[in-house]
Amino acid sequence: MTFQNTLEFAQQLDAQDELQSYRNEFIFPQHNSKNVIYFTGNSLGLQPKSAKTYVDEVMNDWATHAVEGHFYVEKPWWDYHERFAAPLSTIIGAKPSEVTVMNTLTINLHLLMVSFYRPTKNRYKIICEEKAFPSDQYMFQSQVNHHGYQPEDAIVEIKRREGEHNIRLEDIVAKIEEVGDELALVLFGGVNYYTGQVFDMKTITEAGHKAGAIVGFDLAHAAGNIKLELHDWNVDFAAWCSYKYMNSGPGNASGCFVHEKHHQSNLPRFAGWWGHNKERRFKMEPNFDPVHGADGWQVSNLPILSLAPYLASVEMFAEVGMDKLIAKRNQITAYLEFILHEIDKEVDSSFEIITPSNQEERACQLSVFLHGEGRSLFDYLMKNGVITDWREPNVIRLAPVPLYTSYADMYHFGQILKQGITTIHN
Ligand SMILES: *Cc1c(COP(=O)(O)O)cnc(C)c1O
Repeated sequence: MTFQNTLEFAQQLDAQDELQSYRNEFIFPQHNSKNVIYFTGNSLGLQPKSAKTYVDEVMNDWATHAVEGHFYVEKPWWDYHERFAAPLSTIIGAKPSEVTVMNTLTINLHLLMVSFYRPTKNRYKIICEEKAFPSDQYMFQSQVNHHGYQPEDAIVEIKRREGEHNIRLEDIVAKIEEVGDELALVLFGGVNYYTGQVFDMKTITEAGHKAGAIVGFDLAHAAGNIKLELHDWNVDFAAWCSYKYMNSGPGNASGCFVHEKHHQSNLPRFAGWWGHNKERRFKMEPNFDPVHGADGWQVSNLPILSLAPYLASVEMFAEVGMDKLIAKRNQITAYLEFILHEIDKEVDSSFEIITPSNQEERACQLSVFLHGEGRSLFDYLMKNGVITDWREPNVIRLAPVPLYTSYADMYHFGQILKQGITTIHN
């Protein structure tokens, strides 16, 4: 499609947008009595209007039934989390038994590493991406230390080549082969949080398995954003947070995937009563008998009030389906890219999109390196109703989330960007 940088053209795309009505299902912060242009759904998704209804339901059940709410309300709390398995499994490409929700992301990755990072004297190394999200870096270091190894030796980061912004798949595979017999675990992001690069999880998983290692993924920026086929790719485990693309609310519960092939195994784990045999959980038996499924990694009974808005959101995702989301995501991201290039031509400035231009390697995020204006341009955007974020040294990240951003937003953003650059230069 040939794009045009005009309001009429953007509005025409909005009129043809199958997902247009979903914009109305979300609550936007206001700027001068208008919806802001929201580009930070990759950091904290907007609130679905239905979230409050789901939370109110739990509050009412608690008020009217108190402890009986565990069993005798419409959505009983004792198995509330099981309502996620079916819809979430369609979003991440898994069987329902392979999916669970619990805790928060870094905690879950730690718990999963208890089971899946089992270093031995000869096989103890972890492969991860260079400049992984800091929480992941701290996690790797502390896990390696916990097992008595040295991070400098045990953690192998895959680096970008000199002068390149993204990591090459061939370099990942080559490093996996090189570390070979010493490799215990590959734990990669599905989508890099900084550049928005999407990694080829299928190929990485195959390479890791070929080297005899376990392969897991941190899907913080992938869940609800890209097409995942975790079961078919034969991924061993994964976890994600729900407050980014999944719109579940600040700091909300994480999701976990454990491949079926591990369900019957005797993997060590940190156990708790919520992972115990469902039928016998309330018999208060002394010996742990794990549920055969991802639910077997549960520890505590669940924070129902936080699961409530997550459930509202998951049901909306399942209703829309990833295919439609991805179709719009590709088009609106391409339109934003077009707008950026158009504005770049019109102003006396330069910025560089460091996200891969190839659609196979990116999703709903363009990271823009500002060569000229830097922080003052970011401040200008924020003051003018464009919510984006700033990452050192000089990058703004723009995520046109397909469920609730419009093509007209992209057009208006371009105009505000142009004014901002012109204002700063004068
Ligand atoms: C957002 C994000 C996190 C956040 O971790 P929490 O435990 O939810 O605070 C971790 N890893 C990555 C890659 C992220 O993008």
